[in-house]
Amino acid sequence: MKFKEALLIKYGEISLRGDNRHLYEKRLLRIIRRRLSRFDGLRAMYENGRFLVECDTEEFDYDSVMPIVSKVSGIVALCPCLMTDERGIGEIYEIALFYMNRAYADRPFTFKVKTRRANKSYPMHSQEISAAIGEYIINAMEMSKVDVHNPDVTLCIEIRNHIYIYADTVKSLGGLPYGSSGRGMLLLSGGIDSPVAGFLMAKRGVDVTAVYFHSPPYTSERAKDKVLDLARVLSAYTGYFKLYVVPFTDTQLCLYKQAQPEKLTLLLKRSMLKIAEALGQKEKCHCLITGDSVGQVASQTIQSLAAVESAAAMPILRPLAGMDKQEIIDLARKIETFDISIRPYEDCCTVFAVKHPETKPNKTAVEAAERRVRGLDESVAEAIESAEIFEITEREITERDAPREIFTL
Ligand code: ATP
Ligand code: MG
Repeated sequence: MKFKEALLIKYGEISLRGDNRHLYEKRLLRIIRRRLSRFDGLRAMYENGRFLVECDTEEFDYDSVMPIVSKVSGIVALCPCLMTDERGIGEIYEIALFYMNRAYADRPFTFKVKTRRANKSYPMHSQEISAAIGEYIINAMEMSKVDVHNPDVTLCIEIRNHIYIYADTVKSLGGLPYGSSGRGMLLLSGGIDSPVAGFLMAKRGVDVTAVYFHSPPYTSERAKDKVLDLARVLSAYTGYFKLYVVPFTDTQLCLYKQAQPEKLTLLLKRSMLKIAEALGQKEKCHCLITGDSVGQVASQTIQSLAAVESAAAMPILRPLAGMDKQEIIDLARKIETFDISIRPYEDCCTVFAVKHPETKPNKTAVEAAERRVRGLDESVAEAIESAEIFEITEREITERDAPREIFTL
């Protein structure tokens, strides 16, 4: 009986892609390899509709590997398994029994066996294999009982290039491989919402670059550090991450001095979008991403969003549009941005907030008000020119402490 521990990785939606499927698979495999590059003796490879992570030793360090892989989008499930090259049904019985004994000896349990035969050259059909292994286990384990409808344990046998035996399936992140859905420029404030928005789009495969608008001395260095820390957390899901920090004080003062107070926030947001779009073009982005949620504050009513978004031609994705604040907070906790977001440093929009902002602005009037602001275009152009770049490199990501818990949504 020869076998060893390995990790079988299932991917979701990309298996539905037609002709491009192999490109998605290739991209995802590359990402998995990069994330696992911190481990010696591990190999990730394609395995007939799955990925396989194999190690040099008999024992696999699931506790270290699974938390990292669970943050890779495009993967739907992780299955710690026993893997063998023995093809005889007799050997498969034995390994299956070893697996079950290891996990379920000395206690009653119900089970069923589910076989998938991706390699059709195997001489028995899936049903036959399941029935034969089921019978072998019942006979060998006194306290076992078959229940095909509602079993405690589903023992899976997968016949591919190798043969895999497992019963645990750990649900993973889902989504699409990072970078397979184009590129987006995320407006990343230090708040609760925008990091969650960035996470959600990254999960759908959008390659995210971020921009933060910094207004010293009204916003402190610590507010900027907070955004950098948020970028670091996001990079555990995305890999390499680039953050632009845009000096926004002049633009903000220019608007503050000249604009009607009730339109100030809208005009600030419009300038942010213009700058984000210009930087997005540099980065070959296809869209902008914001943390707007409909109706959350005055500048996020539908009318306000409409009056703001005409500042940019790029489509604006707002993945939080339909979410309640509590739902956003729950997600922020899960992805571990929440504790950073609630550090009490001021945001540039809060510093310049007015008492009675418009909630149902007229887009044409807002655009006209913007045209009356002298020196705005110059100030926006200057902000774009002076943006500073911060990078979180792949190396930094692999050298930091690995997460200890498996990530689930
Ligand atoms: P967040 O929690 O993301 O800060 P918020 O609830 O505070 O959002 P607003 O201040 O109206 O809402 O901001 C709406 C969106 O505008 C943010 O989600 C973010 O995408 C963008 N934004 C706001 N301020 C900044 C900033 N200083 N830098 C970058 N983007 C910003
Ligand atoms: Mg904010």
